[in-house]
Amino acid sequence: MTWNWNSVRHWTWLRYVVAFLAVAVAALLRIKLLGSLDQRAPWLTFYPAVMIAALYGGLAAGLLATVLCCLTIFYLWPLFGPLPFIKDSADWLGMAVFFLNCIMISAVAEAMRRAQVRAKVAREQAEAANQAKSVFLSSMSHELRTPLNAILGFSSLMRNEAGLSDEQRHTLGIINRSGEHLLSLINDVLDMSKIEAGHALIEAVPLNLGEMVADITGLMRPRAAEQGLQLDLDPASDFPPYIRADAVKLRQVLVNLVGNAVKYTLQGTVTLRLNLQPVGASGQPLLVIEVADTGIGIPAADQERIFAPFVQLHAVTTQKGTGLGLAITRQHVELMGGRISVQSSPDKGSLFRVELPVEVATPAELPATRVEQLRVIGLAEGQPVHRVLIVEDQVENWLLLRRLLEGAGFEVQVAENGAAGVERFQAWRPHFIWMDIRMPLLDGMEATRQIRALPGGKEVKIAAITASVYREERDAVMAAGMDDFVRKPFQPAEIFDCLARHLGVQYRYAAAPLATGAAPEPPVPAQALAALPADLRRALVSALISLDGEQISRSIGPIAALDPALGKQLAQQAGHLQYSALLQAAQAAEEATT
Ligand code: ADP
Repeated sequence: MTWNWNSVRHWTWLRYVVAFLAVAVAALLRIKLLGSLDQRAPWLTFYPAVMIAALYGGLAAGLLATVLCCLTIFYLWPLFGPLPFIKDSADWLGMAVFFLNCIMISAVAEAMRRAQVRAKVAREQAEAANQAKSVFLSSMSHELRTPLNAILGFSSLMRNEAGLSDEQRHTLGIINRSGEHLLSLINDVLDMSKIEAGHALIEAVPLNLGEMVADITGLMRPRAAEQGLQLDLDPASDFPPYIRADAVKLRQVLVNLVGNAVKYTLQGTVTLRLNLQPVGASGQPLLVIEVADTGIGIPAADQERIFAPFVQLHAVTTQKGTGLGLAITRQHVELMGGRISVQSSPDKGSLFRVELPVEVATPAELPATRVEQLRVIGLAEGQPVHRVLIVEDQVENWLLLRRLLEGAGFEVQVAENGAAGVERFQAWRPHFIWMDIRMPLLDGMEATRQIRALPGGKEVKIAAITASVYREERDAVMAAGMDDFVRKPFQPAEIFDCLARHLGVQYRYAAAPLATGAAPEPPVPAQALAALPADLRRALVSALISLDGEQISRSIGPIAALDPALGKQLAQQAGHLQYSALLQAAQAAEEATT
């Protein structure tokens, strides 16, 4: 309600002034400019004057202008002309008609003005409600993510412990998967509201498409197999292994479409097909993703409706959904500048088709191998001891983080609110601080500001650890002086990754890290090439013979989706123009299989 009191007070006097001025100008115009009309059309300029007053000030101003016009004609007119204007009953009738018309004009203008004010109030109320919804969602998200962080974190930590029976490991797996499912539902609802509130943004990064496709088919295949379905990447696919696009949204689109195809297919196959069309209408290459199934299909009348939020047609499957998957998918695709369509016939199957403008990328553009695939089991030989302070009020969260960090060999202390965090910082001088945002007494933002103002406070690395979902909050956190940001629920690798980034620590891993950097390129393993489907290998051979970099890159995409390690090696060597070595290896593999 910010609009009314000041503006109404303002209007109350201004509208009468406007009425007065409008009538004065009308009289002047009528006498001076239109004086040659004499007695004819006396009301000519007064109608617009009343209209202006009424439109600006409503009924009261319109009535005032009407009365002023009549008084002007009646009293002032004789002063300017030899004859009084009101001379017989016809003139009185004319004045009455003018009066009536003007009352009606004023009444209509008043109705319009009220409707405008009502619309404005409604708009402001809707904006306030939307704002309240965002605040509600972000705090709900916080409340839900915080316990989920503990469920997911502890269950996966416990799964790695020795001495568990198979039964216990299995149960922990169920807890973990249920937690993941809950998290994906929360994320769906949040995604939808972020989209509605205009918070969703696109972040295009170089990504390994081959690996992403392999990951998603690998993820969905067990579920498909459980239902007796075959889930395959179409070997006729032709796409580059590396592209530049919004990785999170693209992944969600693929997961939703393949997940739905599996969910709504009772027997037969689900086929994923990816192709790159050289240049689309946007001037960029178009990635065409098709997900075909032999499932229950969608009636023609419902094919548009299924993209609306909360629309669910089939209640026959065992897996429940939210009815938000396709709505989010379409929003993501459109945000990325693409489009989605569906062709389907009931009982025969469906084909979802997505066209996305993308840029082709090279392996060199990809970020260095992240530690996330590898499980950290401790600090590397000769690493100094690092003191890490956790400032977090929720016991289950700091307990999890402390266990993770102590397990890896960090020295850890905990402060359970912002004020205690500032005090611990002064007494213990940690190298790194994990800072929760919402805490009693002093929140994480303020605690960070206070620490930054203390001696030595500029050097310590501070990373926020928060359940918030909006990017704006990330910006606010960075503006408060933090160095980094990790979202709950976190993966252990994200925590170790962040520490490595800021402290330069090195770890020991459960599996040996992949070779990176300037190590000499190992030859492409002939067995891996021989194990490929013949048409993929042949496509690679003919692309290598053509020496066309783009075609070579496109032929590697589907290979990377089947065997990410081989895809990576091929892409790297192709990136270094090792075409003849590659061709020899591919031809040798071809001969070995014939
Ligand atoms: P849900 O969570 O229900 O899967 P979606 O938004 O992903 O929500 O899908 C909306 C509805 O569209 C589904 O409930 C289902 O009826 C229909 N649908 C989606 N994909 C398919 C498909 N591949 N085959 C048949 N029906 C589908």
